[in-house]
Parts: sequence; structure tokens; C-alpha cells
Amino acid sequence: MTDPRPMHLATRIIHAGQHPDPATGAVSTPIYQTSTFAFRDADEGAARFLGKDPGYKYTRLGNPTVAALEECVATLEGGCGALGAATGMAAINAVYLTFLGQGAHVVGTDSVYGPSRLVLENEYSRFGVASSWVDSSRPALVEAAMRPETRMVYIESPANPTMKLSDLRACADIAHAGGALLVVDNTFASPVLQRPLEMGADVVVHSLTKFLNGHTDVVGGVIVAKRREHLDRLKKVHYAMGGTMDPHQAWLILRGIKTLGLRMEKAQANALEVARFLEGHPAIAWVLHPGLPSHPQHDLARRQMDGPGAVFSFGVKGGLEAGKALINGLKLATLAVSLGGVETLVEHPASMTHTSMPRAEREAAGISDDLVRLAVGCEDVRDLIADLDQALAVAAAAEGAVPAGAGAVRT
Ligand SMILES: *Cc1c(COP(=O)(O)O)cnc(C)c1O
Repeated sequence: MTDPRPMHLATRIIHAGQHPDPATGAVSTPIYQTSTFAFRDADEGAARFLGKDPGYKYTRLGNPTVAALEECVATLEGGCGALGAATGMAAINAVYLTFLGQGAHVVGTDSVYGPSRLVLENEYSRFGVASSWVDSSRPALVEAAMRPETRMVYIESPANPTMKLSDLRACADIAHAGGALLVVDNTFASPVLQRPLEMGADVVVHSLTKFLNGHTDVVGGVIVAKRREHLDRLKKVHYAMGGTMDPHQAWLILRGIKTLGLRMEKAQANALEVARFLEGHPAIAWVLHPGLPSHPQHDLARRQMDGPGAVFSFGVKGGLEAGKALINGLKLATLAVSLGGVETLVEHPASMTHTSMPRAEREAAGISDDLVRLAVGCEDVRDLIADLDQALAVAAAAEGAVPAGAGAVRT
């Protein structure tokens, strides 16, 4: 029996979806590493395929280890259920395929995770799906982009890597007034810091690869639906498209999630301290961190989120070259894409994750050449600051070596 009293999030992170194994009493959810499940007799097999018996049939169509992870994430997000996916992009594509069709239109955050936008622009467009990408931190722009055929408003907040926030309640109202669904990519915040379904969103997607798993050792995704009707439609499409989750992958992520609360607390505190250090450093041009009063949407962050997160961006004086010199000078922070792991990662979106976006669109979306993204981990913050400090000194020296005047030119 489920206790009728709702437990606090930190408790649910550890217990939701996980019960001692009925067969053996194993406290850790076993890895049900099987592709198929035996039926007692023909009638039981028939009942399972007809949906009259909820038992398992075949791992693409459901697996107990995957189900434990799904129940855990659905509980954390406040959804009616969830679907595990092979990757974040498999989850996002299942959502697109379920709710979009010939003639449909999507309004989305302009600086979303690159492939979430590009797959609509380059692939779904072949099947008659149109999309408009706007600065969704301004709800009026979302509203203005709505068309009679808009079926989905697709928001990422905080957005990658501009750290712009979108008002999720306002976006939900705009979407629903236009007869569209609000889908939110909640990867950056995680359910510890933000629960979009409580603010009117219909569907939440995650790249579990990031904060939820948290150890930079596995990829995965999940879809959470608020309503049963949507979950059922999603399930049908997702199971047929085949981008579902493997039991071993589910087990690893379930293990990672157990420390989500602890990791988020530590990484977030580290990030704020590093951001404050950078904001006060003379070689830094700007810092965008939702937890700093200098962030243009600091108030929205406090209203909508339970904390500003552990990812932020900044610009180095001297633009692209100085930024590159800084990145190359770091010894502790690792130069790699991805985020949300226990180790600090640094990346340069203009030359890495967002390089396939045309420059004009990139700049219009706020991804300038000097933007450096830092995904702060759980190390001792003194070591992170010392690392940045020495790398900034290296960058400043490199800039000094550039012929007079050239250092100020933004390439
Ligand atoms: C990484 C990421 C994705 C894609 O997830 P994969 O697991 O790499 O497929 C989607 N959205 C955001 C915000 C991400 O950071």
C-alpha cells in the first residue's frame, strides 16, 4: 500500500518506484536482463496482448527495471506516468511524432538544445511540419508566433546555453488558449528545482544523461505525461518506433537518481560561488547565472524554480580567442559537451554544440562567439576557482601577446 501522506521530494528521490523485489526481497531493484517473458498458458498470453492483464510481454513493450525508473521519475515530476527512452532525443522524437502531423506547426524556444530544433527544421519539415523559433523569455513573442495550426509549444527553461528563462505558467496559458500542448524540456533544472507539470505543462521530457543520472556514464531519456490520455498515445507511438530503454541502462540511471538531491545541492552551491568569483574578475565581460541579481530574470528564477541550477554561461574579455585560451588553460574542468555530472565540464557552444546553426541565427538566439558554458560539478569549489583563476591568467597573457588592438576585435 502506498502511504497516503505525500513524502518530501528528497525522500521520493530515493524510494519512488522501488520496492523490495517480490521474488527475493532484494532491496536494490534487480536488473531484469531479459528480452521476453514467459506466459503460463495461451490464455494468459492472449490477455496480456489484449491489455486485460498488465503483466510483461516483451522488453521493448515494458520491463520491470525500466518500470521502476519510470515510476520514480513520474512521481518526482508529478505526472500520471512516464516512458523510458534510449536517449533524450529518442524521448523528444517520440513526443514530436505523437502530437504532430501533416500541416502541424510548433512554436519553440529559439536557443533550445540544438538537435531538438534542427530535427524539426530539417526532417519533420519533409512531412509537412512547420516550426517557428522565438525568444520564449518574452511570452508576447510566443503568443505572436501562434497560428491556428499550432499543436505544440516547446519550451526549454533555463535554455541552453543562454540561461534565458521562460515563464512556464504564461506559456501554458498561451498554448492552451491556442488549442496546443505545452511540452517542457526540464533537463537543466531537474525535478528537484522545477516541476513544469505543476505549472500547466502537459508533457515533460528529460535527457537522463545529464543531472538525473549524474555520473557521465550512460545516456537515456524519459517522457512524463500529466494525463493518462496523453500517456496512452505516447506509449503506442514510442513502443512502435522502438527508441525504448534497456533494463541495464534503467538500473544505472536509477542508481544515479538516488543521489540527485545531494548532487544538485552541492553542484548548485558550487556554481553560484564560481559565478560570483567570475563576476568580480576583471578579465570577464559578463556572467549569466539565474541565481545572481544581475540575471535579467532573477525574480522569475526565484518564483518558478527552487534553485538556480548548476549550469551557467559567461563571456571572456577579448572574445573568441580569449575564450579559447581560457578553455585550453583549464586543468581541472574538462573540455567536453554534456552537463549534469559530478565532474565540472566546460564547452564553447559557438564552435561545438551550436556550430551547425547559421551564425546569424545563433547570434539572434543570444549565442555569441565569446560565450563559454560551465556545467559545475561536485568538486571542492576552492579547486574549481583556483583552476579558473590560473586559466584566466594564461588567457590574459595570451591576449597580451596579440598585436596591439587585435585583442579587442570580436571574430
Ligand atoms: C543532452 C540534452 C538533450 C538530448 O539528450 P541525449 O540524451 O543526448 O539524447 C536534450 N535536451 C537537453 C536540454 C540536453 O541537454
